Amino acid sequence: MGLRIIHPVPIYEYECRSCRHQFEQLIRTGDTAACPKCQSGDLERLLSHVSMSSENTRQLHFNRARQAAKRVQKDKDVAQWEYEKKHREEGH
Ligand SMILES: [Zn+2]
Repeated sequence: MGLRIIHPVPIYEYECRSCRHQFEQLIRTGDTAACPKCQSGDLERLLSHVSMSSENTRQLHFNRARQAAKRVQKDKDVAQWEYEKKHREEGH
């Protein structure tokens, strides 16, 4: 999956009544699910979950963690700069 979907898309889990094949399918309005194995439309919906939203949440957490890390690095830089400045002033 190279493409990143930004909006959460409902993904439904189905079991094919003809061949018992279980699969997940992304269903947008107007779409009808069909078994990828035998193309049968006689499906049983198992459970629905929005897997893209958890992916987004993970990405959000990652971004937050990165921002926090950046902030810490900046604080360190400032501390280092202040230390050097103080050191220089004391030296004189
Ligand atoms: Zn099938």
